Amino acid sequence: ARTRSILCSGYDASPGMGHFIPMLELAKRLSRHINLTVTIIIPSSNPPSAAQTTLLSSLPTAISQTFLPSVSLSDIPSTTNPELSTALTILRSLPSLRRTLLSLSSTHHRLATFIIDPFGLDAIDIASELHIPSYLYFPSSAMALSLALHLPYLTQTVKGNFKDLSEPVHIPGCIPVHGKDLLEPVQERNSESYKCMLRLLNRFKMTQGIINNSFLELEPETFKELQKGEPGMIPVYSVGPLVNVEQTNGTADKCLTWLDEQPRGSVLFVCFGSGGTISSAQTHELAIGLENSKQRFLWVVKCPDKVANGALFKTIKVQADPLDFLPEGFVERTRGMGLVVPFWAPQAQILAHESIGGFLTHCGWNSILESIVNGVPMIAWPLYAEQKMKAVLITEDIKVATRPRIGENGLVENEEITRVVEKLMEGEEGKKLSYRVNELKDAASKALGENGSSTKQLSQLVLMWKTTQ
Ligand code: UDP
Repeated sequence: ARTRSILCSGYDASPGMGHFIPMLELAKRLSRHINLTVTIIIPSSNPPSAAQTTLLSSLPTAISQTFLPSVSLSDIPSTTNPELSTALTILRSLPSLRRTLLSLSSTHHRLATFIIDPFGLDAIDIASELHIPSYLYFPSSAMALSLALHLPYLTQTVKGNFKDLSEPVHIPGCIPVHGKDLLEPVQERNSESYKCMLRLLNRFKMTQGIINNSFLELEPETFKELQKGEPGMIPVYSVGPLVNVEQTNGTADKCLTWLDEQPRGSVLFVCFGSGGTISSAQTHELAIGLENSKQRFLWVVKCPDKVANGALFKTIKVQADPLDFLPEGFVERTRGMGLVVPFWAPQAQILAHESIGGFLTHCGWNSILESIVNGVPMIAWPLYAEQKMKAVLITEDIKVATRPRIGENGLVENEEITRVVEKLMEGEEGKKLSYRVNELKDAASKALGENGSSTKQLSQLVLMWKTTQ
């Protein structure tokens, strides 16, 4: 059979990792199918970070990588929200993307499909011009996908801003969510982010289908709705959980060696993803709360920031040392019980380590999936984007996490942090959450096994791409 090529168009290489990593994981999974070649195309407005370079260099050689020429965003304010700047990066990369696709299609490979990130949806015009079927890769929960597909309807029917609604919002197949917990870019109706989001959402239906990095057994009711197959509905394929399990970088040895010395299931891992930041006052409360809990912890610390996604706007090179912002004497007092690591740690490997017993997470979807595949119960500490919705999902629906209360001063106070950490690591509730997350760990492994639900759905797609003329 003639080789077919699959093109995965990655996310802008500058902000965040939450879209970049799962696209690479999908590419890896696809490259295992015979008679298929996979090319990753990466638009960017900045050089890739060290972590991204490491991930790209660890890809199997069967996957080709094409970096589009970097575009300039120097004319837009540096405070522009990451969703907008990413969409703009893709828009400005369209001419070079067209040249790349034309050159690839002139080789002997048949371009079987073009898989795009939600922020890359402007690129489907080029794919359709070249008669390449395009699919959207949605790297978040089925719940977030259900909201995305329902949002144009909500926009027409709900009056006012979502955050002011007194009744929870109904999303098909999902537990009700308060308007203020819906994704951040849609909170202000007149904002540029909302307009950009709606424009991209309206493009979902221009693709041939949506590939979702969740799995049937994790969000059964939501998939029941999404896969009803009614006329006019866009096909949705669940292929997850596709998570990175192989990453390494310079700090790997330090964290993992330290974990090797800790008792089994005794360490709380604390990490707010690639972009999440907390304020100076909140950093202080978190430190004191952890210290008073007397539990072991491994904390990836970033410089405090008033903005919840502050780290998306900065490169590590220009930042101060995050450890300087911890309370005086904290590192010394917690030595032996805690390890603090600046900026970045090999999370996937850390969560897989047997000394880890809990994860305080900002509720990024990859973080949640990585925790589930390793059977680690969570403390949900959402910060921005659609993280509050995912906090509701994992605490109230899937029931693998507990969520601290925010005090009247807008902070999660140290006493509350101590309470939830003790509850998760030593209490009865922690045991229940751990039992449930281990059930899902098994379900995740089955879903990706030989006859698992996600394996079958991805194979169905691949078969279609291989046989369609
Ligand atoms: N990550 C990591 N080390 C860190 C922070 C993040 O390896 O110190 C990885 C993490 O394992 C996950 C990804 O970066 O795969 C973050 O994705 P997620 O969707 O959880 O959050 P985002 O960064 O997009 O908010």
